[in-house]
Amino acid sequence: MATAKKVAKKVTKPKATKPKATAKASTKPKAKTKTTKSPSPEKFSVEQKLKALFDLQNFDSEIDNIKTVRGELPLEVQDLEDEIEGLATRVKNYNTEIKGLDDFIATKKLEMKEASAIIKKYEKQQKNVRNNREYDSLTKEIEFQNLEIQLCKKKIEEYKTTIESKAEVIGQAKSDLKERKDDLKYKKKELDDIIAETEKEEKKLQKKSSSAAKIIEERLLIGYQQKRKNAKNGLAVVPVERSSCGGCFNKIPPQRQLDIRLHKKIIMCEHCGRILVDPEIDQVTF
Ligand SMILES: [Zn+2]
Repeated sequence: MATAKKVAKKVTKPKATKPKATAKASTKPKAKTKTTKSPSPEKFSVEQKLKALFDLQNFDSEIDNIKTVRGELPLEVQDLEDEIEGLATRVKNYNTEIKGLDDFIATKKLEMKEASAIIKKYEKQQKNVRNNREYDSLTKEIEFQNLEIQLCKKKIEEYKTTIESKAEVIGQAKSDLKERKDDLKYKKKELDDIIAETEKEEKKLQKKSSSAAKIIEERLLIGYQQKRKNAKNGLAVVPVERSSCGGCFNKIPPQRQLDIRLHKKIIMCEHCGRILVDPEIDQVTF
């Protein structure tokens, strides 16, 4: 019965303070509009501020991650675009080379035609020779022209083989090109989707980050932002992990660890200056 009375008394206490608070607020209408927009940090306990700092860090780290992922995607697309350009240039160059070889073949064919014409001419002359010496000399000329024709034929075969192998490379490059172009189309679409998706996610996190920031007084918030800017990994608030600072991994003295676990003070790492929080702070509610 006695405890019930005590409880009843305790319950009435906050009731009595409430009208006071509203009365105060009503006397200062300007102050009231300010507080409804953003809750003033004085209303919150150190423990709640520590929790807010922890949350703020987590939201901001998530935003950092999103930005990193989004930053890498355009690079992947750029790589593909470069590769496509390289393949297209290769196809173009091989085509030019093939055209050059076709021209060589045409030249050789012309040379063969000329040699055949010369042979025909000499064969005609052979019918009207005056002596054996003249005949033999024409025979030698004819043999020479025949050799020229054989040589042209050999060259043409060589050019044709080269053309075939180049055509094969072109075929491969073209199929690679088509594949890469399909990849690019897919990647671009994926990139657009991810950008849209992450922008939505980032906005959500930004909102959460802002509301966590409202719980923290300006001086502390500025310190947090400066530390984040200076730290490579963007960490300004770190949990205690295995008795060490979660940021620089230096050991934390036992007394300091105890203080951190009490959630009564904002405690910084002696080595890196980051705000140290007890991992249990995550369970604090508002
Ligand atoms: Zn540290």
